[in-house]
Amino acid sequence: MAPRKLKIAVVPGDGIGTEVMPFGVRCLKAAASVYGLDLEFEEFDFASCEYYLKHGDMMPKDWKDTLSQFDAIYFGAVGLPDVLPDHVTLWGSLLKFRREFDQYVNLRPCRLMPGVPSPLANKKAGDIDFWVVRENTEGEYSSIGGKIFEDTDREVVIQETVMTRVGVDRVLKYALDLANSRPKKHLTSATKSNGISITMPYWDARLQELQKAEAYSGLKIDKFHIDILTAWFVLRPEQFDVIVGSNLFGDILSDLGPACTGTIGIAPSANINPEGKFPSLFEPVHGSAPDIAGKGIANPVGMIWAGQMMLSHFGFSDAADGMLKAIENVLARQEATVVTPDMGGKSGTTETLGVAIEKEILSL
Ligand code: ATP
Ligand code: MG
Repeated sequence: MAPRKLKIAVVPGDGIGTEVMPFGVRCLKAAASVYGLDLEFEEFDFASCEYYLKHGDMMPKDWKDTLSQFDAIYFGAVGLPDVLPDHVTLWGSLLKFRREFDQYVNLRPCRLMPGVPSPLANKKAGDIDFWVVRENTEGEYSSIGGKIFEDTDREVVIQETVMTRVGVDRVLKYALDLANSRPKKHLTSATKSNGISITMPYWDARLQELQKAEAYSGLKIDKFHIDILTAWFVLRPEQFDVIVGSNLFGDILSDLGPACTGTIGIAPSANINPEGKFPSLFEPVHGSAPDIAGKGIANPVGMIWAGQMMLSHFGFSDAADGMLKAIENVLARQEATVVTPDMGGKSGTTETLGVAIEKEILSL
């Protein structure tokens, strides 16, 4: 049996990242003790505004060598707009990780948990349970383009979308394999091939080609235009299983999906380098939330669930299933003195909710 061992770089970052991270680590340690995993943690203070103020940069020069020695990066949140503009903090840390570690899959589960009210009418736990796979390194998010005839009434601004065969194929393959591994065996691809007439039909054609493989013969594959797809997300989310989209479309869907499942405070995200050549990064969907930082009321579930995704990614499915069950059990009880205010809790805090989940894991 492969060793059940992971080396994890802990990067809490800014704001509530530093408040929820300790509970993420505690819950992972609890899971490690119950399921016999050997998890080694090392914490870093870079990728934070405090580090920037001390050193004049978000990260040390050798950050890539340092983090390359780990299996995974467990990341809190970065950015304090009152201290530094968001593009400095983001491009100086998180986006460097994604691009330099070639984390080309951004994976987000959208799952309505028991006890968490959905903003969609009449939805109960189990009705919403799908994955969004977003292309994370190319597509619409390129910096190729510019302005011509500047400051005249003929002014033109252009920004190019870049799709490479390697880039499109690898994310589609990841999504095909993920869908194939799930009981529903259903993949939905988001494009807009009627309006965006070059890159989107290319994406469709690559999917058409790849889905011919014998391994995918049992898959049901749908293609939707992004506009109607967002409508279906809200009207009938039950129909989805795995959804794959370009950088922009995946970005939109992977915020809309978690929004349909209650609070942003519980949603996790994984930035994956599937080949394992570089470390993958696991983080909550939410940001540093300066408006509630320091108050002790941040919901720690997104951070803890991101840790669960890490265990699942490395194939420790017993421990991952256990952590997910523990999160569900605690949320289902909806004790007002335990759950945080964003979920309707009365005196619940980061600590009460974090500790409750840790205890639940230990009692499994
Ligand atoms: P990003 O940094 O990802 O661009 P942002 O700064 O726009 O995001 P967040 O920091 O995620 O946004 O905060 C958005 C809103 O959600 C804020 O009002 C914040 O208080 C709330 N929020 C975010 N995370 C949590 C959490 N873990 N618990 C409770 N509320 C949260
Ligand atoms: Mg922010």
